[in-house]
Amino acid sequence: MSEHNERNNYDYVIVGAGSAGCTLASRLTEDKGVSVLVIEAGKWDRDPWLHIPLAWGRNVLQRRADWNYSMQPEPGTANRAIAINRGKVVGGSSSINGLAYVRGHRGDYDRWADRGLDQWSYAHVLPYFRKQERWEGGANAYRGGDGPLSTIFPDSKDPINDAIIEAGKRAGFPFTPDYNGAQQEGFCRSQSTIKDGRRCSAAVAYLHPALARGADITVETEALAHRIVFEGARAVGIQYEQRGQMKIARAAREVILSGGAINSPQLLMLSGIGDGDELKRHGIAVKLHQPAIGKNLQDHMGASVDAFRTEPGPLQKGLRLDRIAIDIARAHFFGTGPAATVMNNVQAYLKSDPAEKMPDVQLLFRVAPLDAGPYLPPFKPAYLDGYGVRAVVLRPESRGKLSLASADPHAAIRIEPNFFSRDKDLKVIRDGMRMAREVFAQAPLRRFGGVESAPGREKQSDAELDAYIRATATTVYHPLGTCKMGAARDDSAVVDPELKLKGIDGLRVVDASVMPDLVGGNINAPVIMIAEKAADMIRGRQPLAPVNV
Ligand SMILES: Cc1cc2nc3c(=O)[nH]c(=O)nc-3n(C[C@H](O)[C@H](O)[C@H](O)COP(=O)(O)OP(=O)(O)OC[C@H]3O[C@@H](n4cnc5c(N)ncnc54)[C@H](O)[C@@H]3O)c2cc1C
Repeated sequence: MSEHNERNNYDYVIVGAGSAGCTLASRLTEDKGVSVLVIEAGKWDRDPWLHIPLAWGRNVLQRRADWNYSMQPEPGTANRAIAINRGKVVGGSSSINGLAYVRGHRGDYDRWADRGLDQWSYAHVLPYFRKQERWEGGANAYRGGDGPLSTIFPDSKDPINDAIIEAGKRAGFPFTPDYNGAQQEGFCRSQSTIKDGRRCSAAVAYLHPALARGADITVETEALAHRIVFEGARAVGIQYEQRGQMKIARAAREVILSGGAINSPQLLMLSGIGDGDELKRHGIAVKLHQPAIGKNLQDHMGASVDAFRTEPGPLQKGLRLDRIAIDIARAHFFGTGPAATVMNNVQAYLKSDPAEKMPDVQLLFRVAPLDAGPYLPPFKPAYLDGYGVRAVVLRPESRGKLSLASADPHAAIRIEPNFFSRDKDLKVIRDGMRMAREVFAQAPLRRFGGVESAPGREKQSDAELDAYIRATATTVYHPLGTCKMGAARDDSAVVDPELKLKGIDGLRVVDASVMPDLVGGNINAPVIMIAEKAADMIRGRQPLAPVNV
């Protein structure tokens, strides 16, 4: 390995071309003369499968643009090594995610503000959510109309979607026309990040257009950041490995870590910032003792209720190999047809207990079973069709941690999620599953089937449901909190409210790891909001004026 002498000086060096990194690279280079280097471990997002909305489930199973992490087996989840997918490709996890566009509940951001993050209240973040998006319904007090991220109501034209909403209403639950608008609570049509029938990742929304406008952005792909380079107490660059060569890139202004909730803490630890004792055990010289790094790990977990479908649905008809091949080609070349959308078009945000201030359960309905895939009789028979729902606990109380397994930057960090260490988390999922059963029992869904395939009607008691949840629950892939943002007085905070790493100059963390706790919904939109807001801070601009609606 050798040092090389290509261009290696930039204003900003960003690690990670994911949701946050792509957003930052685009916004920072809107200022004339500003140069940005993005160091990305994955490849360019050229694989056509990444862009076809229907293929997202295939990508999750195949894990070709993925870090391929699993969590440590723990008794709380029946000693399973649960997969935790993370995008390793330009666009990061937004290139492989489920495309759901969700902001969370306004009370989530007001909670952050109450804990000393007064610039992160709902009124302060709403302008940045509006700035990020181009909503197909057009701009209003809540929604953006001319931002980079295209958001739509996808429509898979499966009649079961309408039946689920109708069943929800019959079961007595509220309905909301827009969970990202005035009211989150209720049954609602899902919203997705799709543009012209293709995935609208952060790379598609921000990075590629920035490159097309000639911004001074250099993206180094297949480049693994090994450590931060310091001069005294200041971060001045990144050392990285690219195709067998070690290189150093210098940042005249700032180094920004956007490697995501698992990798940013790892890079800090590899650079000597972390729990001093742990670092010493791995032979890493301690630059800054900061034991909070890697702690406070949180994630959304959920367990399913599934039922058989009496008649095969449109997805199953379409997945016959000869038909799906044509639909995939249509989606790829023209962005049209059934593969140019996502199939699951209904969600619900509900309260497990009327006393809850905000919905604490998310029901993610699906119109097909988890093992749905292409088939071709008589060589491969069709799967048994079904539908289902995943009940997700939105604000879990359990907290896990990350710790170094090795000082080798190629080795995965140890992920100990500690799921279900608090009974409340199990209870919320259990309540969500019971609400789902109520919905499935309503007349509008009866014509689609209704015989429960999992967990099975015989499992009714708390103990039976808890055992099922521990044995089957999976993550919704929203780890965060491992470089927590907090007020100056908060000892458990790794970054300050401007996302600057406490104790080191010239270094910020901007990605899911800074979120202090989970918001009530999927987190791609919140991460992009954070990066939009961070970009204004870094550029020294006035923040967008708070909006009270
Ligand atoms: C399978 C899946 C489904 C999901 N579904 C949804 C959904 O439907 N809706 C939703 O809102 N959210 C969803 N999410 C979550 C959401 O996409 C992520 O939370 C969000 O993209 C995280 O953004 P980030 O910027 O923090 O990290 P990422 O987008 O993961 O970006 C981190 C980037 O840094 C790179 N990197 C990391 N370490 C290094 C290093 N040492 N050197 C160089 N590069 C490095 C990575 O390769 C990656 O490209 C899903 C996530 C997954 C994985």
